[in-house]
Amino acid sequence: MSVELSTDLRRPAYRDISLYAPNREPCAVDLSDNTNLWGVPPAAERALRGAASAAVTRYPALYAGELKRALAAYVGADAESVVTGCGSDDVLDSAIRALAEPGEAIALPDPSFAMIPIFARMNGLTPVGVPLAADYDVDADALLATGAKLIYLCSPNNPTGTTAARHMIERIVERAPGVVLVDEAYAEFAHASNVDLALASERVLVVRTMSKAFGLAGLRVGYAVGAPALVAEVEKSRGPYKVNALAERAAVAALTDGLPWVREHVELAVVLRARLEHALRTMGLAPLPSAANFVLVPVPNAAAVAQAMRASGVAVRPFAGLPGVGDALRIAVGPWEMMEACLTALERAIC
Ligand SMILES: *Cc1c(COP(=O)(O)O)cnc(C)c1O
Repeated sequence: MSVELSTDLRRPAYRDISLYAPNREPCAVDLSDNTNLWGVPPAAERALRGAASAAVTRYPALYAGELKRALAAYVGADAESVVTGCGSDDVLDSAIRALAEPGEAIALPDPSFAMIPIFARMNGLTPVGVPLAADYDVDADALLATGAKLIYLCSPNNPTGTTAARHMIERIVERAPGVVLVDEAYAEFAHASNVDLALASERVLVVRTMSKAFGLAGLRVGYAVGAPALVAEVEKSRGPYKVNALAERAAVAALTDGLPWVREHVELAVVLRARLEHALRTMGLAPLPSAANFVLVPVPNAAAVAQAMRASGVAVRPFAGLPGVGDALRIAVGPWEMMEACLTALERAIC
């Protein structure tokens, strides 16, 4: 369906923005969006069930103070260094709006998180894609050479699963004209983080989410860590009441009583990721080295292969012509029965 608003009512900068529309048709085994395939931390589920309806009648906390304190304890920062949002998408959108004027540019690796060019355009910024280096690391000098006011990095990177080397991130931070956004949606699976950089420099904002390792994608809870003055700018742009009352309760439960469950399932994902990579290599494929809870595997005609896999009840995310990679499938890591179903469907689809 295509509907167009009359030209006189339309904002010209919005003409080329389209709705985000990945294939979300239900599928028996859905490995397409990197959420926690083991489910919700039981502590978060209990918090949701026990929530009194009084919590819904009133407005939630203005800026989710209790959640900020729990997140601060989790990452080892002060609560003043944390800003929350309705998913990290909201935090990224708010940061872009807060830290660059319309007409300025944001540089980002290509391929990387598909939402960033959309958020850039929504806020009147020009996204400038910079190919990854041959080893899938970020190309620090090429990103800096764009002169863009904002630089976005993603480590581990979606969709490649590869990481940005610490010295590359430091090089960018030392020379960048503005703030460097480091998206760490998958940091838990990499056992590595740049939160320490964000706490040491006013020019770094590390953005994270409770949608992946924490299993709360449906509740929409994201956050960022940075210098208190930087975080305050993002919070202005974000606005009040963005984290709803039930989401805040469940998220706090996941960060406290739920933490052992989360850590246990992160470790399981890391073990099964290696097992999945090995199985793919045994099939003659060459998955990229992943530090996330998904694996990107180059496969010719990825869209057709993904379509055939769907017919076998397994959804994976196809990508066409990724720079430096070509066609590829992104497969989320979950319980081994799901991985077996995926490998069987993949084998059937490509032979
Ligand atoms: C999933 C994902 C997000 C978005 O997470 P939400 O918190 O659910 O909005 C952000 N960045 C990357 C790289 C992701 O893969």
